[in-house]
Amino acid sequence: MTHEELIADGYKAYENEGLAVYWKPSICAHAGECVRGDGEVFNFARRPWIILDEAKNEKVAEIVSRCPSGALKFIKKG
Ligand code: SF4
Repeated sequence: MTHEELIADGYKAYENEGLAVYWKPSICAHAGECVRGDGEVFNFARRPWIILDEAKNEKVAEIVSRCPSGALKFIKKG
């Protein structure tokens, strides 16, 4: 899906230079796979709960692809 399609579908965007991560709260199962993957990037106790780190973009994309509900998606940029 494109950025525009994801936003229209209810996903929120979190972006840096190289990566855009999208999250759809209504389908998040709160299984915590993302938080276990990297608790500095993904932290439900914080706002915004996703803070990307350019140096971790490859790792974060891999964590996002393990989200069991489909609530997380990513698009690589640049
Ligand atoms: S891995 Fe996906 S479903 Fe699980 S808490 Fe994170 S965003 Fe929600």
